[in-house]
Amino acid sequence: MIPVTTFAGRKVAVFGLGKSGLLSAGALIKGGAEVVVFDDNEKSVAEARGAGLHCQDLRELDWSQIAALVLAPGVPLTHPAPHWSVQLARKADVEVIGDIELFCRERARSGADCPLVAVTGTNGKSTTTALTAHLIASAGRDVQMGGNIGVPVLALEPFAPGRVYVLEVSSYQIDLAPSLHATVGILLNVTEDHLDRHGTMENYAAIKALVPAGIEAGGTAVIGVDDRYTRAAAERIARAGKKLERVSVLAPLREGYYAEGTRILRASGGRAHAVVQLAGIGSLRGAHNAQNAACAMAACVALGLDWPTIQKGLISFPGLAHRMQQVGRKGKVLFVNDSKATNADSAAKALGSFPDIFWIAGGKPKTGGIESLAEFFPRIRKAYLIGEAAQEFAKTLDGKVPYEISAVLSAALEAAARDAEASDAKEPVVLLSPACASFDQYPNFEVRGKAFADLVRAMPGVSSPATQ
Ligand code: ADP
Repeated sequence: MIPVTTFAGRKVAVFGLGKSGLLSAGALIKGGAEVVVFDDNEKSVAEARGAGLHCQDLRELDWSQIAALVLAPGVPLTHPAPHWSVQLARKADVEVIGDIELFCRERARSGADCPLVAVTGTNGKSTTTALTAHLIASAGRDVQMGGNIGVPVLALEPFAPGRVYVLEVSSYQIDLAPSLHATVGILLNVTEDHLDRHGTMENYAAIKALVPAGIEAGGTAVIGVDDRYTRAAAERIARAGKKLERVSVLAPLREGYYAEGTRILRASGGRAHAVVQLAGIGSLRGAHNAQNAACAMAACVALGLDWPTIQKGLISFPGLAHRMQQVGRKGKVLFVNDSKATNADSAAKALGSFPDIFWIAGGKPKTGGIESLAEFFPRIRKAYLIGEAAQEFAKTLDGKVPYEISAVLSAALEAAARDAEASDAKEPVVLLSPACASFDQYPNFEVRGKAFADLVRAMPGVSSPATQ
């Protein structure tokens, strides 16, 4: 745990007692603050009380005695309306911050020689965060990874000379972190998302852009410039005279990094040369992963890593579970778990990454279904439909892609594996990329993905893809 000493001797209120809220409370107490915690959920309050925390309804608090309100990132700050605790804090002129802010202030005080890489964007945050941390670790450097990726930032190991921190930050967390001044600030992309929380696209994009715009003196902004919001952010940052690396997977650049097929090129003054090769790296298939990889690489170069070390690290990147994760191979058939693809946009990334697909799809459908995936239909040898969406998806595929209604995952996998093996395809892929939420049959996408991986591994003759 990283003790938060910047509030020592002062009183802090914490609202929202999930994992990160409880850790913030613990880290503040360890650093010498007096802490009062609360939540709208009585069970969470009872648990916090049981754990020895001082719980009090924040409506009864003397706010004139409070130095800050630390808010869990999921609690509404502005949209659709500020939470009541935020309203109380604002009325009393008390600042409202989150755990990333506590980390940043502590870093400014006692971890100034610890480089910080902050990663944001609408898509690809976790992959880029994990890849950046992996590349740094494989260069033999001391690295800590956390934030939105699962380990709350204050649960990481305390500052030590040279230790690098790689943090995934969501727009919710950025909103609560005015002192987020990273050594490298990565903005991958901005597409429509979370408008319930941020109101408008402009507002959402502006919050995301704070990560590269807020880099510390001498820091580097890394921006994927393939959409209009990030292009505009890059222009502003370049005009402000900050160090900027642009990344594109759509078009060559005069300056920066761009992808050409599976090669990443570095361009300077209009001249470019290939610096790494992604061909054959199963965990980094697809243009979207080229974007993630190029941004991670740009960050690592800014931290002093060289190309051969980066190339070696890329090759050994295991990838993240449930995101085009290779879970098994049987003869020529590869089995891929892309359970995280809970909408058509995400499934498109996987469908675009393989030529001969035996596709397992379905679950709890989202608006729009799979109409938008028509351009990928020629790659799909057959679809195996499961869950509530099966009939609707069947209608969309009818006459275009062969399909069967498998209803459940086990039946879908059995049929898909059999057909893939018997097919004339050279490298057939059995792909779970549901384009649906999991909630009709599973508690979440992780459980769905694990069920798939377990079923694959239990099939006779399946080996780990890593041993091929
Ligand atoms: P996040 O943490 O932002 O949700 P992940 O790295 O977990 O992103 O990837 C989630 C899904 O988003 C992937 O399975 C893939 O379908 C899609 N994706 C990943 N990277 C990108 C990218 N750079 N651009 C667009 N989509 C992406």
